[in-house]
Amino acid sequence: MPRFRPILDTMPAYKAGKAVASADGRSYKLSSNESPYDPLPSVVEAIAEGARQINRYPDPGAVRLTEAIAERYGVPAEHVALGAGSVTVAQQLFETVSEPGAEVIYAWRSFEAYPLLADLAGATSVRVPLKGEDHDLDAMADAITEQTRMIFVCNPNNPTGTSIRREALEAFLDRVPETVLVVLDEAYREYVRDAEVVDGLELYRDRPNVCVLRTFSKAYGLAGLRVGYLIAHEPVASAVRKTIIPFAVNSLAQIAAVASLAAEDELLERVDLVVKERTRVREALIAQGYDVPPTEANFVWLRLGDRTLDFAAACAVEGVAVRPFAGEGARISIGDPEANDTFIKAAGAYFSQPTLL
Ligand code: PMP
Repeated sequence: MPRFRPILDTMPAYKAGKAVASADGRSYKLSSNESPYDPLPSVVEAIAEGARQINRYPDPGAVRLTEAIAERYGVPAEHVALGAGSVTVAQQLFETVSEPGAEVIYAWRSFEAYPLLADLAGATSVRVPLKGEDHDLDAMADAITEQTRMIFVCNPNNPTGTSIRREALEAFLDRVPETVLVVLDEAYREYVRDAEVVDGLELYRDRPNVCVLRTFSKAYGLAGLRVGYLIAHEPVASAVRKTIIPFAVNSLAQIAAVASLAAEDELLERVDLVVKERTRVREALIAQGYDVPPTEANFVWLRLGDRTLDFAAACAVEGVAVRPFAGEGARISIGDPEANDTFIKAAGAYFSQPTLL
């Protein structure tokens, strides 16, 4: 029997969102925070054209995409590091700072990949419980020790949808020593409408230890192609670039991301539609009697405690897949209006069962 690292025995498997179907075959996947829209024709065309060259390796430096991102955000190209989805960039970040004894702080519950990546990289996770549904930034700052190497701040937070406003985030960053890297995970940034929720790119400019993680998977609708990026000062970005597996960002992903930036206006109109639907879904749930924390992301969160799995099963009967976290709550992505209507109906029917809530 080959010998494996003992940590593998204790690591929970990453649970991806599943699809379900109702008895009459309806299926609404609201479990992975994906864009509900078909890819734009211009993006599909660019991918089809690019497919003619897939006998060649991709550009390892992804020069065109790197330059397009740099131009879009007004940052030097040396500040951009790419990966195969932002989860891979997060993994690369863990690789850059981890060694035995190195501590990485993050809120919990937050994005499920953080503990896995910490374990894999050999870092020690320091989980700071949420306060209600929000980051407890004071407790996170108090948790910093000599061993702390990195802090992940997920803003808006997955799965609770809550977000951190400028003043609170700045006050927190002021308490973090410059030797500790702060990663602002902004996978859902494009859905933020609260003007007080600061754009991490404004904060990173004057703070060499702060960086911003973004993705093409959500607002840009490229979840299936896997491309994400970090914007960070040169020492951080170049450390992350060193940890990339050669050719990790494939050529079609590079081409599609460049085409998506070119079609950004169209894509952001779709984000507006999702944001409108988010308001509609949240208000409908509140009218039904649910507590729904404010959300700046493309999902809502219901803290259902012991009833979480039961609730998910009731939604599944209607063909709606949600993301349950047993004993805690359910995260429901905002889909197209039909999916949202079906979910609202299922949630209403569930709430009206007096023995259950
Ligand atoms: N960060 C957060 C907070 C997320 O929710 C996700 C996706 N669920 C990711 C990063 C990773 O997304 P991707 O790898 O598709 O870019």
